[in-house]
Amino acid sequence: MLVHQTMTGHLLVGKWNIIDGKAIAIEPKSIASDPYNRFVHVIFYLSDGDMLALSDARKFAKIILGKKKDLESLPELKELGPEPLDKNFKFSDFKKTISSKTGKIKQVLMDQKVISGIGNIYSDDILWLARINPFMPANKISDGKLKGLFKATLTILKKAIKLRGSSISDFRDTAGKKGGYGKAMLVYRREGEKCLRNDGGIIVRKKIGGRSAHFCPVCQKL
Ligand SMILES: [Zn+2]
Repeated sequence: MLVHQTMTGHLLVGKWNIIDGKAIAIEPKSIASDPYNRFVHVIFYLSDGDMLALSDARKFAKIILGKKKDLESLPELKELGPEPLDKNFKFSDFKKTISSKTGKIKQVLMDQKVISGIGNIYSDDILWLARINPFMPANKISDGKLKGLFKATLTILKKAIKLRGSSISDFRDTAGKKGGYGKAMLVYRREGEKCLRNDGGIIVRKKIGGRSAHFCPVCQKL
């Protein structure tokens, strides 16, 4: 079974009553009390009595059931780049992947075909931590900076997972709770604020493609 949560989908574990075709959460309270958990479209009944539900406000999420090889050949999985937290994913793989690209590093990091799992918030924070300007062409980054970028990627992703995501919008964890990374963001949505390095820099926001890049012009010089 392949679950693609897309933008607003999230999986919840709890108990629901089905009343007139509508799922009403009974427990835990964290699911029942948050309106973002109310868009339940599918419920699986688990053997231990719990239920697994997919809540999705925008209805873009999908669940596909099929043979393993058929699922693996779907573009959602087939075209996905390597998982950066895989223990077999080494700096040499990262370097090979990144340094062959001529695009701006922020866009390269966010390209799911290059590396999977890095979105807008985390790419900004990763680049700040590695002191790299988001507009820097990927193939122009020095080896030393690339090593820092690799390290920063792992650091930020691990921290985000530990804090259970960002939840600046709809995302909730399986208990229906908000993640804590939104309060730990380093540059994302800090436009106009002082750089956390206290280097005199003020965080700016600039457009790259359709997205916004937040960075410090002092410690992330081009
Ligand atoms: Zn700075």
